[in-house]
Amino acid sequence: MTKHMSDRRTFLKTAGLLTAGAALWHPSQLFAGSAGAAKKKSGSKKLELAWEDFQGIMKFTFTISGSSRTTTPIVITRLTWDGYEGYGEAAMPPYLGETQASCHEFYKKVVDNILPKFDNPFQIEDIMAAVDKITTNNTAAKASIDIALHDLVGNIFGQPWWKIWGFNPKDAPYTCYTIGYDASDDMVNTKIEEASWNKIIKVKLGMSEAEDKRMINLIRARDQRPIVIDANQGWKDKYYALDMIHWLAERGVEMIEQPMSKLMLDETAWITERSPLPVMADESCQRIYDIPRLKGAFHGINIKLMKCTGLWEARQMITMAEQNHMKLMVGCMTETSVAISAAAQISPKVIWADLDGNYLLGNDCFDGMKLVDGRITLEDKPGLGLTKKPGIISI
Ligand SMILES: [Mg+2]
Repeated sequence: MTKHMSDRRTFLKTAGLLTAGAALWHPSQLFAGSAGAAKKKSGSKKLELAWEDFQGIMKFTFTISGSSRTTTPIVITRLTWDGYEGYGEAAMPPYLGETQASCHEFYKKVVDNILPKFDNPFQIEDIMAAVDKITTNNTAAKASIDIALHDLVGNIFGQPWWKIWGFNPKDAPYTCYTIGYDASDDMVNTKIEEASWNKIIKVKLGMSEAEDKRMINLIRARDQRPIVIDANQGWKDKYYALDMIHWLAERGVEMIEQPMSKLMLDETAWITERSPLPVMADESCQRIYDIPRLKGAFHGINIKLMKCTGLWEARQMITMAEQNHMKLMVGCMTETSVAISAAAQISPKVIWADLDGNYLLGNDCFDGMKLVDGRITLEDKPGLGLTKKPGIISI
């Protein structure tokens, strides 16, 4: 027998096995790994959306330059299709302009105008394009649909998104933990103790020079862990900002986020050119179309799902930032484990992760991404790896 015939015979044998296999084949069987698919029962092939308001209660009063609060408005969403389900979340710090009421209004439009056009949740690109066209803003409401859709589709595949995208879970970074501003030294010291489990401290600056330096000096008096700084647009003068960055670099600070107003791109570019530390865009970078004009003004971008409408666009922002040689960070609002577990899926691609939102909440309604010694761990669980805690929300 010639080699050609042998190859052909092997091919026919293999093809026969494949044909036999195809008769039994179903997408969830192909993709179901150790995690298994989370199908509960067969159901409607229509995409159905439910939502429920949730009031997040913060462990500490949260103060950044400009505002202070103890609770945060959230809406949890749930998409169902053919017996599968997926959860999403809109987390809405008041200064961003969305509310639970604006979400409800948005969801009614999704239910009336978008979902009836789709009977296939795998069409994430088309569904999210249609959702995005409903309004110009409402990015958190849009993200809550996107996150639920990713959880749903991941549950149908029986695989987590970090795996579907081909990311290496070993690349997932440590998360920062934010020590918020407080006027009381004792309270700052309590917050430092609360953060003792963590490897990287994040400090919100942008108050007066005396208050900013007091925060850093209090931390450095008892703690030598790396610090990253978020000025939240708080510095008004580029010379002052650069002086502060040098002062901070001498005290073991690794990175500066949004030193000046999102509108002051020329001044920020001047700082970035001279800064001894990487300068990252947060408020300046909302959506993917912001990235091209930020090149040169910042060293990189902070991707947040509530700003960029969710994981579908976030995944594309990663590619665009990499193509432009920009550094990556992933951040969050004060969020439950739903949105945090979604953001964790892209964390293997970033240098810095600021995914402590669920740890800042006293009443998380889901279990999801776990931190182990402050490091993000990506488990082999389908979708976003979520488990609803009993008795907190009803959808
Ligand atoms: Mg920030």
